[in-house]
Amino acid sequence: MTQVQAIFDKVLEGRRITPEEGLRLLTEADLLALGQVAQAVRFRRYPEPVVTFVVDTNPNYTNVCVTDCLFCAFYRKPGAPDAYTLSVEKSSRRSSGPSPGERRRFSCKAATIRPFPWTTT
Ligand code: SF4
Repeated sequence: MTQVQAIFDKVLEGRRITPEEGLRLLTEADLLALGQVAQAVRFRRYPEPVVTFVVDTNPNYTNVCVTDCLFCAFYRKPGAPDAYTLSVEKSSRRSSGPSPGERRRFSCKAATIRPFPWTTT
């Protein structure tokens, strides 16, 4: 039996795995097999055939930033020709309610608020 299979068996028996075992699954487990084990655990804990998703939203009311992260292709320096900052009204419209058939619960766990020293559009 491989070490990965031993960890799968442990999970399927309902026992907790160690951080080292989790790392082994992350780096060595077959993705489809890992998914099957995850689904078995999921149905054991939540047998109802209902799946929910979190809709993650980043309401970008401005692309103006002075942080200069090396990986970022989004930001524009203050005064750049394609810099924008939305008004509160436009920003609110962008984050309007759910689409038909959707149910959403709004919550905010973290927010980075940039100041508004630039012209709004
Ligand atoms: S917008 Fe965010 S990721 Fe981009 S440079 Fe500014 S802080 Fe960095």
